[in-house]
Order: sequence, then structure tokens, then C-alpha cells
Amino acid sequence: MEPIVIVGAGLAGYQCAKEVRRLDETVPLLIVASDSGNYYSKPMLSNAFASQKTPDALVLKGSVKMGEELGAQILPYAEVDAIFPEDREISVRGRRIGYSKLVLALGADPIMLHEGAFSINDLADYAKFRQALDGKNKVAILGAGLVGCEFADDLSRAGFVVDVFDIADRPLGRLVPPECGHWIERSLKVNWHFNAKISKIEKGNIHLEDGSVIEAEIVLSAVGLKPRTKLAIDAGIEVGRGIRVDRHLETSAKEVYAIGDCMEVEGTVLPFVMPIMHASKILAANLLGKREKLVYPAMPVVVKTPSCPLVVSPPKPGAKGQWQSESGQDGVKSVFVGDDGKMLGFALCGKAVSEKNALAKELPGILS
Ligand SMILES: Cc1cc2nc3c(=O)[nH]c(=O)nc-3n(C[C@H](O)[C@H](O)[C@H](O)COP(=O)(O)OP(=O)(O)OC[C@H]3O[C@@H](n4cnc5c(N)ncnc54)[C@H](O)[C@@H]3O)c2cc1C
Repeated sequence: MEPIVIVGAGLAGYQCAKEVRRLDETVPLLIVASDSGNYYSKPMLSNAFASQKTPDALVLKGSVKMGEELGAQILPYAEVDAIFPEDREISVRGRRIGYSKLVLALGADPIMLHEGAFSINDLADYAKFRQALDGKNKVAILGAGLVGCEFADDLSRAGFVVDVFDIADRPLGRLVPPECGHWIERSLKVNWHFNAKISKIEKGNIHLEDGSVIEAEIVLSAVGLKPRTKLAIDAGIEVGRGIRVDRHLETSAKEVYAIGDCMEVEGTVLPFVMPIMHASKILAANLLGKREKLVYPAMPVVVKTPSCPLVVSPPKPGAKGQWQSESGQDGVKSVFVGDDGKMLGFALCGKAVSEKNALAKELPGILS
């Protein structure tokens, strides 16, 4: 019997394998990954500089141990270069491997807008950046979104001088209203550059379109991710922004499924941990012959900026309504109220984060 083949050994791939094993102890499982296959917590990457964590210290379990625990064969450093859905085979450097069902858990690539910048999207990136940081003091960060703010806070707490650049007029511009944005701005000990249009990066220095130059020694880009879709496109599988799946997590190719940062469901790409936890349970059941449907509840994201406790649960893009904010000495509570009077999202800063669970219960699900 051909194995269930999972391509990718990130959280999505491993979580799917764990859920399959929970339901079935014997079905053959093969995990193929272009990286080491070592299991680590990716969210830790933007919280590791202040605590001086080495890349090795971030590995929770090696690939061999993962294979033993999951009763799975793991092929590390094995890049899949093609998928053949009609033949139920994948190709790894030209070698064909058969599957009974295929799971694409390929993750996403960082979007790079400028040459001369680093990005951190996996353990190897973290190791490279950490090495390049040695002996340097001034870091420029491109992007004041969720991950950019986390790196900014972490690096400033680690003692670096941090300059953050964004084309928006405040941090987390797409996720929170101005009151929360300004709270974050005041809480993080970094130099902010908003409405900043970068023309080039030269020797680590940031050149803006208005002619100003901000000196930095090293640049970290955190402007967003692009789901890895090339393998799917080449195989004729339908993609939008990510690899499109239906509510059963199946792609347009029979017996080919997708999960995690590479996946799009009903027009939504959600590159976070909680969607993977929900989707992996449904996917495992469906890989074993069930036909369960993906449901997402509201999934607030805790932003890891210790200098500014922060939780966001933004409304769906395009939602009609408005933000209502209450600011105090200790924090900001903002709720997004829809035109029908129902709460559709929230952003909580400082002490207001304690209201997260109560508010989350009132939010509508993301996929119901
Ligand atoms: C710095 C940072 C901080 C974050 N913090 C948070 C947080 O606080 N909360 C939260 O909810 N989310 C957070 N996230 C997002 C979260 O970590 C991701 O959503 C999640 O880890 C994605 O897992 P994944 O398995 O889909 O992708 P990945 O972990 O990227 O795994 C992809 C796997 O696919 C393999 N692969 C790719 N292409 C091929 C190929 N052709 N052949 C073989 N293998 C291939 C790769 O080698 C890898 O093993 C953070 C992300 C980053 C970058």
C-alpha cells in the first residue's frame, strides 16, 4: 500500500501527521521536506534574540526522533520538484515516489521588496541573520506589521538600536485602529519611520524617496509572505493567492490536499498557528476516509511584544462598520462594530488584553 505522503515538515506537516497517528496507528506515513525536518516552534523566532537563544536551542525535536514518535518515514533535505496527480506520484530530484493521498504543507516565502535585506522565516534564516548580526549595533526593520513589530521589540530588548520603516502611518496599520497603533508606537523603544517610501538599500543604509538616508548596519525585511504555489501551478492544481482547497481541505486534484501557510480556503489565507490546529484535525479524518468540513472559530492572535501586551482579532477585510476605542492609563480597548451593531473584531493593548477570552466568545466564526 502506498503511503500518505506529506510534503513539508513545518507545523502544518507535523501537526497533520500527529492527528493521523492519533486516529490510525498503522497507516504508512512519509514526510518529505526540503529542510532538516527538525521540529521547532516558528513563532519563537521573533522572540529569541532578547533571550539569546541559539538556533540549536530552538529545536524541540530532531527529525529522527519525530520519525520514531510518529511511526513515519522522514526524508529530510529532499525537495519535491514535481507532482503528478494522474499517476499519484511526486518527484524528488527526478526520483518518483507513489502516494495514496498527498498533503501539500509547503509554507510560504517571504516577500522581498529590496535587495540587501535579510528575512527570517525559518530556523536556517534565523541562524544566518544571527551570525550576520555579530558585532553590529544598528538594525533597520522593513515593515511594522505583526512580525516586524515582534522583531523590533525583541531586538531592542536585546540591546540593538532599531529603526522601523513602513509605508503606513502607524504600526499594524491594517489590523488595529489609530488609538491602538499610537499605543504600540509609544510602548516600543524603537525609532519609527512612517509613510516611508524606500528607494534603495545601500551598505545597510536606508535611502528614502524624499532624499533622506537613515544609517543602519543590517536590514531585516518583514513585509509579508507569499504562499508557495509553484508546485501546484505546475501540476495544474487551482491556486488563487494560495493553493485553493474546499472545506474538506482537498485541492482541485483528487486525493491532493493542502494545509498551513500555503493554503487558501474560501478566499482566505491565514498564516497562523490556530488555523493549522483546527485544519489538521479535519484533514487527518478526511485522509482516513471521512468527509469532515473545516470550521474556523474566531482566532485572536497574541502579538509577542512584551513591551506592549497586544491581542488582535481583526474584522474580515471589507467588513462594514467602525472602530470604537476606549483609551486609559493602562491600555486601549478597541472593538470593531458592524453596521448591524454586532462586534466583528477587536484589538486590545496593555491591561485590556485580559478581556481577550470574554470578547472572543462574542465574535462570529471566520468559517462557520
Ligand atoms: C517570525 C514569525 C513569528 C510568528 N509568530 C506567530 C505567532 O506568534 N502566532 C501565530 O499564530 N503564528 C505565528 N507565525 C506564523 C506561524 O509560525 C506559521 O503560520 C506556521 O509556522 C506555518 O507552518 P507551515 O507548516 O505552514 O509552514 P513552514 O513552517 O514554513 O513549513 C513548510 C515546510 O515545507 C517544506 N517545503 C517547502 N517546499 C518544499 C518542496 N518543494 N519540497 C519539500 N519540502 C518543501 C519546508 O522545508 C518546510 O519544512 C509566525 C511566523 C513567523 C515567520
